[in-house]
Amino acid sequence: MTTANLLDFDLDGLAAFCEQLGEKRFRATQLFQWIHQRGVADFAAMSDLAKSLRGKLAGAATVQPLTVLSEQASADGTIKWLFDVGAGNAIETVFIPEDDRATLCISSQAGCAVGCRFCSTGHQGFSRNLSTGEIVGQLWYAEHTLRARGMARADGSERVISNVVMMGMGEPLQNYAALLPALRVMLDDHAYGLSRRRVTVSTSGMVRMIDRLANDCPVALAVSLHAPNDALRDQLVPLNRKDGLESLLQACRRYLEFAPRDFITFEYCMLDGVNDSPAQARELLALVQGNPATRIACKFNLIPFNPFPESGLSCSPRENVLAFAEVLRSAGIVTTVRKTRGVDIAAACGQLAGEVQDRTRVRERIARRVVPIHAAGGGAAPMAPVAAQRERA
Ligand code: SF4
Repeated sequence: MTTANLLDFDLDGLAAFCEQLGEKRFRATQLFQWIHQRGVADFAAMSDLAKSLRGKLAGAATVQPLTVLSEQASADGTIKWLFDVGAGNAIETVFIPEDDRATLCISSQAGCAVGCRFCSTGHQGFSRNLSTGEIVGQLWYAEHTLRARGMARADGSERVISNVVMMGMGEPLQNYAALLPALRVMLDDHAYGLSRRRVTVSTSGMVRMIDRLANDCPVALAVSLHAPNDALRDQLVPLNRKDGLESLLQACRRYLEFAPRDFITFEYCMLDGVNDSPAQARELLALVQGNPATRIACKFNLIPFNPFPESGLSCSPRENVLAFAEVLRSAGIVTTVRKTRGVDIAAACGQLAGEVQDRTRVRERIARRVVPIHAAGGGAAPMAPVAAQRERA
């Protein structure tokens, strides 16, 4: 038997593993609690496990933490870790403390193959999917490291992290096989016990996988929208050429059938002269509210763009962001403007870069696509000269 990393298992997976060792499910539950609730990696220290089981585990399993390459702390309390995931790749994880919550932003892939124009991870290319253990390992490390530093929450809870967002490096729904058990670990009362609404999966819009997530584990869903029409979204989020806006919005509606009291959070990165006009805000409204029968329960999160040179884009002026928000709010849609956190340590949205050994041509493809996107005077979205063939199935 090869040595198993127990961070790779949700509780059912761990029970199956224990069964192979001739152990009952309740032993798996105890082991799961030791690992995730208490942060213990050394089987010898798991004092209420039978000695015989500890002996078996010592030969067959490990709890393999990620290797920390660096930790940076921002003046605003944000912490960013860089973890080594082998073969020259490193991923980033960000802890964002606020008054009423403490959020961990987790990576799902080393790099990303989607290649969104405004995202620095996307510009780095793609190396590989993370394993479940590498996804869970980010939470395991952050929770237990911060707990050991005495950073308990103000509400008296022993736990430090109250919310998880799958918004770090990577498109989580492109790594679904590893993501699903990781989500189950986050939600499990014998592990981190996070409620379904406190775990958010953010996607650039993989329609088929949104449907699978709805069936398997309908946690909170955030969709990176960034444009009010297909022509512009094709340029900003290349995945849109496969699954256009209409099918994406239909998937959002279907998702809410599985999570009826929820809403979809639409993420919208504010790009100067590209997607930030009041006319485009009205176009968005028509998309999500146009027809009462197909209206989507949603909120908008406007994200000030964090510029980086390769993008050829710049951040919307604050007055444009506020005017855009006002159009949405005046139609009754809850709209927030994301506070920019951790900019001094490059931990803000779209800034995560890690180290990626690009094994694809993604980086090249993006470099070819980076042409100016100019503003048109209101109305329809401005177009860059990209001969994007729609690839819808
Ligand atoms: S925004 Fe998300 S999906 Fe798009 S390139 Fe960046 S990490 Fe990938």
